[in-house]
Amino acid sequence: MHIESAEQQALLDQEAHRLYGLLGSVSRAPGAKWTLAQCAQAAYYTLRINQVKKEKNAVILAHSYTTPDLVYGVADFSGDSYALSRKAAETSADIIVFAGVWFMAETAKILNPSKQVIIPAGPAGCTLADAITEEQVRALKAAHPGVPVLCYVNSTAGVKAECDICVTSGNVFDIAAKLPQKELIFVPDLLMARNMEIELQRRGTPKKVIAAGGSCCVHDKYTPEDIAALRRKYPGIKVLVHPECRPEVCAAADYVGSTQGMTAYVAKSADKLFGLLTEQGLVNRLEAEYKDKTFIGAFGICSYMKQNTLSNTMQALLNPSPAQIVELAPDVIERARKSLQNMFEMSR
Ligand code: SF4
Repeated sequence: MHIESAEQQALLDQEAHRLYGLLGSVSRAPGAKWTLAQCAQAAYYTLRINQVKKEKNAVILAHSYTTPDLVYGVADFSGDSYALSRKAAETSADIIVFAGVWFMAETAKILNPSKQVIIPAGPAGCTLADAITEEQVRALKAAHPGVPVLCYVNSTAGVKAECDICVTSGNVFDIAAKLPQKELIFVPDLLMARNMEIELQRRGTPKKVIAAGGSCCVHDKYTPEDIAALRRKYPGIKVLVHPECRPEVCAAADYVGSTQGMTAYVAKSADKLFGLLTEQGLVNRLEAEYKDKTFIGAFGICSYMKQNTLSNTMQALLNPSPAQIVELAPDVIERARKSLQNMFEMSR
């Protein structure tokens, strides 16, 4: 934004202070919070993006794992994959700008195919979504005929199109428990599959889970020793972890749940000190929204999510490149939507 008048400068100052009011309590690096000067730099972009967003009738959805200048500066909605997919399905905007990773933008396109869906980060991957192909899912189905196939939402549109029911970290255990079959196929998170078997056993609905895929590069790196170290350093701390973590990490935690679940746990808890073994973006959101509580994060960073910036969000809104626009074949949309609709129905 080129500053031409005292009025524009006043607007920038106002926006910088608005951002600082939200981000002043948020960690930008270990031991360093957002400063007013950094918020002032962000304000140049946020003012312009919010203006262009209105002119183009666009909506910006930002995953909680993106950076807080996006989440609090320009997003109309922020949250986890499930919450954002609902917003994508409901929006009447002409353009959906999805600050997240590619499979999330694909999900928005599947649920609202008449919209233009843009992702600032372009074809940003995900170690889970990239861990299995639709050909591999077809081979699994051929090897286990009749066994229902569940896919984690962190999967490509092509993989979703091959599966019966999509699930998220918030509903995976409930949906798996509701299925009448004693055996199921789950892709592409091997650690969540092991956590699922343990949880189903605990609930008295044991099932055999045939799993294939990989793991999340952020959540897979945590160990029980990380939790022990947190407890030694901060006696009384409540430790929250994501079900993409290893089973031994989940077993050592006070709470295991999705991004939404962890947020709800913090909101309801009378405790004041929390350790979070998850992506730093969620730690930042909790720091911004629960200023009376203290959050110790491990600075786990998803490099794919962080490829979304204010700069490429503005560029994508103004003039998206082909690599930033999601296009999917109609038959893939049709078949993948069925697996998502089955999830919505089974989550009721
Ligand atoms: S945090 Fe993990 S699961 Fe989420 S997008 Fe990044 S690599 Fe994928």
